[in-house]
Amino acid sequence: MAKKSKSVGSAILPTNSDDELHRKAEKIAAEKKIFATECNLPLSEEDTRRMLHELQVHQIELEMQNDELRRMEAALDASQNRYFDLYELAPVGYCTLDEEGLIRQANLTATTLLGVYRNELLNKPISRFIFKEDGDIYYHFRKKFLASGKQHSCELRMIRQNDAPFWVQMTAVSALDADSAPIVRLVLNDITERKISEETLKLAASVFTHAGEGIMITDPAGSIIEVNRAFSRITGYSRHDVLGQNPRILSSGHHNEEFFATMWSAIIGKGYWHGEIWNQHKNGEEYVAMLTITAVKDDQGNIQHFAALFSDITQEKEHEIELERAAQYDALTGLPNRVLLSDRLHQGMAQALRHGLYLAVAYLDLDGFKEINDSYGHKAGDQLLIALSKSMQQTLREGDTIARLGGDEFVVVLQDLPSIDVSIPMITRLLDAASAQVHIEEKILQISASLGVTFYPQSEEVDADILLRQADQAMYAAKMSGKNQYQFFNTREEDELLDRHKQIERISRGLSSGEFMLFYQPKVNIHTGRVIGAEALIRWQHPEKGLLVPSEFLPVIEEHPLAVELGEWVIDRALSQIEEWHNRGLDIVLSVNIGARQLKERDFVERLQVILALHPEVETSSLELEVRETSTLEDLKRTTKIIKACRELGIMFVLDDFGTGYSSLTYLQQLPVVQIKINQDFGQEMIDNHDDLAVLTGIIGLADALRIDVLAEGIESVAHGELLMQLGCELAQGYAIARPLPAEEFPEWFVAWRPDPAWRDLLPVNRDDLPLLFAGVEHRAWTEKVEAFLRGEQEAPTQQDMHQCRFGIWLDTEGRGQYEVQPVFGEIEQLHMQVHAHVAQLLELYGRGEKKKAIAGIEKLHVLRDSLLKQLKVLSHEQSRISCEEPPEKTQQ
Ligand code: C2E
Ligand code: MG
Ligand code: MG
Repeated sequence: MAKKSKSVGSAILPTNSDDELHRKAEKIAAEKKIFATECNLPLSEEDTRRMLHELQVHQIELEMQNDELRRMEAALDASQNRYFDLYELAPVGYCTLDEEGLIRQANLTATTLLGVYRNELLNKPISRFIFKEDGDIYYHFRKKFLASGKQHSCELRMIRQNDAPFWVQMTAVSALDADSAPIVRLVLNDITERKISEETLKLAASVFTHAGEGIMITDPAGSIIEVNRAFSRITGYSRHDVLGQNPRILSSGHHNEEFFATMWSAIIGKGYWHGEIWNQHKNGEEYVAMLTITAVKDDQGNIQHFAALFSDITQEKEHEIELERAAQYDALTGLPNRVLLSDRLHQGMAQALRHGLYLAVAYLDLDGFKEINDSYGHKAGDQLLIALSKSMQQTLREGDTIARLGGDEFVVVLQDLPSIDVSIPMITRLLDAASAQVHIEEKILQISASLGVTFYPQSEEVDADILLRQADQAMYAAKMSGKNQYQFFNTREEDELLDRHKQIERISRGLSSGEFMLFYQPKVNIHTGRVIGAEALIRWQHPEKGLLVPSEFLPVIEEHPLAVELGEWVIDRALSQIEEWHNRGLDIVLSVNIGARQLKERDFVERLQVILALHPEVETSSLELEVRETSTLEDLKRTTKIIKACRELGIMFVLDDFGTGYSSLTYLQQLPVVQIKINQDFGQEMIDNHDDLAVLTGIIGLADALRIDVLAEGIESVAHGELLMQLGCELAQGYAIARPLPAEEFPEWFVAWRPDPAWRDLLPVNRDDLPLLFAGVEHRAWTEKVEAFLRGEQEAPTQQDMHQCRFGIWLDTEGRGQYEVQPVFGEIEQLHMQVHAHVAQLLELYGRGEKKKAIAGIEKLHVLRDSLLKQLKVLSHEQSRISCEEPPEKTQQ
């Protein structure tokens, strides 16, 4: 601001110097001299001194007057300065208004506030400077003031030239001017800054109160000093509840000390912390908050407050957890899925290394689960899975993991094993749990599991994927070796499996390139000579290996879908063959073997119908299906259903290899088959094995009782056939009749074949005479043992006493008792004696070291033996002839 001028009121100039004083005295003296001269008055010394004295006095008086003047001038100056400071430069604007509201006077501050020169202000109505929108405020203010005449204030906005409106506090005071005319003194106080900060505060307060986030302010000691509404909504605590409290009252106990230590070190170090926290609502429920805590500092960096801003993200969190769960857990069983398994497996491997312990990975696949689904529906299957998952999980220790990979496959991770052996009882418990009985909708379901196990660490570095693969392969090996068991993984097995995959591929190629063919082995009635059918048997004409039989390739694909493909090819080929032979006048029933894998196909019957539809000319009754006893056992109910459905199509079922499974009566009763084929082991062995003959006899009796045809497989010699005939079984198949024949040789054989005459004439023995057959079998077995000893194939020589061998015992007791009257009996006794005598000679030779001679004597032994057996046959035939009429020929149903 410009400084006031010093020149105000300087009319009399002070004359301080002596020179000047002299000049004035001389001037007065001169004037006096002129005066005396003019008046002709003589000027005495006295006059002159007096005059000088007067002059000096006058001078002093003048000096004094000048001092006074100077003092007054200084006072005036000071007063003017004060006025200037107080009025012009006052911190508020002053305006004096006349009665009409025109500005009469304004101080410098007022002109500065309004941004105009004083002359632009004077005589202008003050209303011109009021912000238009606040015109009403001014109007009412003025009205009120004029009405009351008392000092009055209001807050309104005024305008400044070329600038934004500004806030003033306007105070009006009434006064009188020098002429006693009423005037109004206006005081304008610029309150813009205060207004702005008030607005800001108001806004902040509103934000604080209405914020969606909870806000909590604490003092530096951590006592809550303010909270907002959202705080109360989220925490359940009112403002009143928490003021003065420590935020600890919100704690859920979910987090450990380390959590809070990290939080506080961030707040102190970085000035803030941001993260998720589990807190507890006043009602005890827990919620998750997304929280930011900021340290509010003053200019010196001292913490003034802590401000916590948080929102409730429980729902989002729950959703997130749900999503996470869905991504990591199996929806059906609630067990970890493949994703979580991988996680746990990696962690477990690291832990095994850290602790110097083993980890086991067990791959578990349920046996026969598909059949449960097929037979009882998926709902029951699901329930079974849930129940088994639970019981398997219960066998595990805390820290072990069982995960479901999908379907009926599970993986178990066993941790912290001090040795591999320790895992065995755990694995056994798992297998037991998997084969537990489960009650579902009044049904009792029971299956089993195959389990493959591998361990970590290994001699070579392996990763989690390799472990899973190893366990999977071991599981496959467990399946292959009969299911309901576990196998440990080893590298050799891995090699074999790799080899297996190659073989499967080769078979598949062989099938597409027509390397497979069917051979046909006749089924006949050895008594009547009737050919009742033929069995189609697959062969592989391998380009390098030659003709391969099923045992060389079928086991490889036993559990593979290729088995189904190959099986369907066989049915199709057999149907074509029936058609071809039919066209050439040969009508024959062909039986086709159905493998276990093919029989398990859910849509077995539908698929069969599709193949049948490709051969509309073929009578369905020309096709028979052979299923092995063992493959029907897995799911008897389902197999029965299939057999019945096929029956309706006109296709009959034969039960193959009977005697290898349970072979129970109830089981046979349930399966609606037309024929059972006695497993060829019994057929082959019956001739010299008492036990096999017993089984064979039992099965024939059983089939007879149930009126099911029975056919014996593996009839390799005429003697086999004879025995079979004597047992009352006329249907047979075996090398003694025909080997499996290529299709082109079959019609010729068919025309030419005649049964051995020995079979034609034989009669079945009476039940009472069955011991005769057994005695013959015992004798054959005895001679074979002697033979084996002489050939050096058996260590100890058999019983040599003719009364101590089994045949001898029978002969002396039962035989003599029942058949002594028969003339042939004596011959039998004689022959038996001769056999023993001959054997004694041979053993002596053997004992002397003449082994060759002894072996050469075997031929005679055979002759004697056969003679004895022949006489036995004569005896039994005679018995049958006497006691009963010929049994009717067994016919096919
Ligand atoms: P299988 O159904 O019991 O067939 C009888 C097997 O015994 C045949 O062996 C046959 O050649 C053989 N055999 C017949 N008579 C005698 C005999 O007097 N002595 C001896 N030692 N063996 C005899 P093959 O052809 O090697 O077939 C073996 C098995 O392979 C069959 O047993 C059958 O279970 C299976 N098979 C054969 N062809 C097929 C097929 O097309 N599909 C399916 N799924 N399995 C088949
Ligand atoms: Mg068969
Ligand atoms: Mg068989």
